[in-house]
Amino acid sequence: MRPISRREFLAGAAAGGSLLGLGAAGALAQADKFDLVIKGGEVLDTSQKLRARRDVGIRNALIAALEPEIPDTRAKQLLDAKGKLVLPGLIDMHAHVYPQVSALGLPADELVPYTATTTYVSAGDAGANTFSALKHYIVAQARSRIYAFVHISSIGLSGFPVGEMLNIDYADVDQAAKTLAENPELVLGIKVRESVDVVGANGLEPLKRAILACERSGVRGTRVMCHIGNAPGELSALLDLLRPGDILTHAYSGAGNNTVRDGKVLAAALAAKKRGVLIDVGHGGGSFDYTVAEPAIAQGFTPDMIGSDIHAVSGNTPGMPYLPWVMSKFLNLGFSLEQVVAMATATPAKIIGRVDKLGTLAIGAPADVSVLELVEGPVDFVDTRKNTRKGSRHLKPVATVRAGRPFGRPYPVPFSYP
Ligand SMILES: [Zn+2]
Repeated sequence: MRPISRREFLAGAAAGGSLLGLGAAGALAQADKFDLVIKGGEVLDTSQKLRARRDVGIRNALIAALEPEIPDTRAKQLLDAKGKLVLPGLIDMHAHVYPQVSALGLPADELVPYTATTTYVSAGDAGANTFSALKHYIVAQARSRIYAFVHISSIGLSGFPVGEMLNIDYADVDQAAKTLAENPELVLGIKVRESVDVVGANGLEPLKRAILACERSGVRGTRVMCHIGNAPGELSALLDLLRPGDILTHAYSGAGNNTVRDGKVLAAALAAKKRGVLIDVGHGGGSFDYTVAEPAIAQGFTPDMIGSDIHAVSGNTPGMPYLPWVMSKFLNLGFSLEQVVAMATATPAKIIGRVDKLGTLAIGAPADVSVLELVEGPVDFVDTRKNTRKGSRHLKPVATVRAGRPFGRPYPVPFSYP
């Protein structure tokens, strides 16, 4: 076999692989192949303002090509996405994925068929005392990408349903700060749950300590994720404590002491959003009320991200807080598909801020991809307070690719993953 000349090599490259299949170019063809090609779908990548028919070529766990047509012959494996949406891997900013220690947790990888999600943020499952096992036994072994907010309570959510902040002594600021400082690649900030049944007589003290732990850690960009829903005292006082970059979750809860009163959003809620407090949905099993969300959104108190708050209790409720289903609710509340996708990809990726090009399908991005179907037709939704709404379309999970490997078929050989 004669070696290919430099001229032939360049000609082949310029022709986009036209040498494929020629004996002389066998070695080149092999090197030119993609591990996986996601074929025929409609790519929607808000970070590139792209919504068009594209094939996605994946090599070495990275996005290697995004082209109108990649020939089948260049694919070691093919994933048919005809008629489907191809999105950057979905990111759930509020999940509970620590089954062994958090009483609410579920195994992240097991959720994938229902969530098509590649990145989960553990929202306070672990506290300082239980964090090490989250890192070494859960995060290290999951195929899903996992980040965490560490709970200000050193026991995290292990004591659920007993409130983890009924005893304020669990809120050890120095231990929480140390966990942050020692794990900046994994920990995004401090979680605190401010509900009367969780904090008892301790009022806003857990939140104050959560803020202090962020400050004391010395890690720049560290945030508090604060849960509300029947919060103690006047909600405005709580909202006033939140700093730009902190996250308010369960923003549309109807559990009491809501962000909306008599149809009007609290001035303190709008002021918080205006100064840069980030708004998360955190639907969960008891934290999303249409009669709060609708006026709130109409008056400008819109979400920045769509966290599902999926966990072992909420996952069994009729509100079905799986990320694509919660996204579907916002699609039917009047947000565009682009807005809804951005709130579950590009925006949370920016907030996580740990991995270059997370949340996009740009060349060189991690090969985390979610394939969904936008199903047109009547659909019934229910919130967590039995309010129902009719919709006209919803997102249905089809396939999920994490680090270039699909969950389920087609199986790569060898199966090892990065
Ligand atoms: Zn939660």
